[in-house]
Order: sequence, then C-alpha cells, then structure tokens
Amino acid sequence: MSYVIPAPAVVAVPVSGGGLFPVHRIYCVGRNYAEHAQEMGFTGREPPFFFLKPADALVPVADGAVGEVAYPPLTANLHHEIELVVAIGTGGRNIAAADAVSHIWGYAVGLDMTRRDLQNEMKRQGRPWCIGKAFDESAPIGPLQPIAQTGALTAGAITLAVNGVQRQKGDLSELIWNVAETIETLSKAWTLQPGDLIYTGTPAGVGAVVPGDLMAGSIAGLGSLQVRVRPV
Ligand code: MN
Repeated sequence: MSYVIPAPAVVAVPVSGGGLFPVHRIYCVGRNYAEHAQEMGFTGREPPFFFLKPADALVPVADGAVGEVAYPPLTANLHHEIELVVAIGTGGRNIAAADAVSHIWGYAVGLDMTRRDLQNEMKRQGRPWCIGKAFDESAPIGPLQPIAQTGALTAGAITLAVNGVQRQKGDLSELIWNVAETIETLSKAWTLQPGDLIYTGTPAGVGAVVPGDLMAGSIAGLGSLQVRVRPV
C-alpha cells in the first residue's frame, strides 16, 4: 500500500565526524538544577518529571555554524534554557541506573526554548505545557558526539551567553537527578527506543531573548552551540 499523503521526513541530527542520528522522541526533564528550581519558585528534591517535544521541533546546527530560529508566535517572553542532551542508542524499559550508561549513544548541546508567558499561564490553570514548550523550532541542537569519544559525562561546566554576556552557568555535577537516574526513572514510564533524545534540564539564569539576539551555549567536552533569533 502506498501513503495517501507524502510521508513526513525522518528527523535526524548530524553526528560530529559524519553520519546522521535518526530521532524518535524528545523527552525533557523539568527543574533539574537546584538554583534553577529556586528561580522558578520551587525548593527541595522533588521527584523528576517529564514533558515532550515533537521530533520535528529540532533545529540541528552544524559544527561551527550559527543556527537560526524564528521568534515564535503568541509570546512576548521567549526564554533560553541551555541543556545537556543525551541520545539513546539502545532502548529498554525498567533500566537500572547502574546499566544506564550502556544505553547512551552520545551527547549534544541543546536549547530548550520556552514561551515562558504561555507556560506560566498553563501552570496557573493546571493545563498541559505543550504550547509553552513544544512549538516549532523550540529545540536547537548541536552535532551529536559519540560516547565512545567523550566518555560518560557526569561533570563539567554548562554555560550560555547572549550577545557575549553570560546568562546561565552551572555544572553537570549539579544535576538534581543525574543522567543515569533520569534514564532509570524515564524508562519506568516509557519504553525507551533507539533514537530517543533526553533534554536533561537547565541551570540557573534563564531569561528572555528578542529578535537579533545571539545565544552561545557550551558544555565542557562537547563544544558550543550558537543560535541567533532571526531579526525582524
Ligand atoms: Mn528545560
């Protein structure tokens, strides 16, 4: 049988050094650094919680290139969230934290762009966050680096500057739920599949960008990700 409309393209993220990583789903962890949780009005170690973005929200940015995203509609408060992204190479369910690293194919630097005003309104109303988080071009991502080259990333600086001025700064060692624990918890709720990406949460210092702004993020051991908000 043939498709009755054109089939959607497979979304893929380039791998540093060559090849393409086909993407299945994008899971995201909420409030996973203590200082960021505080700036969002929360304290303490609450259980991890998750939301998703559609795979086609990704905006892959090549090594050394400057990516571009449109300023999205319906918002007046578009926020940057720099995050470590984990790529799952081997799926599974009920994965123990001690086994989690064997399921990781690689890592990338990502941005969880957020329409904060819409997210906050949905929070206030007790409604889903989709309109604040899962919009078009909401997930810029740099090239994937194989774990075979980076080793397991458990510490290292994660930073973001806007127009050359530092906004966000943290360390991967400050994750409230580390990557292994996140995979353990996530795989109790969903069957992880090869091609899944996990945005692991953002450190403190989130803030707004406007058209023309240049975001430059970096994670020690993974390099940088530069994305401009398209000027109007
Ligand atoms: Mn986030």
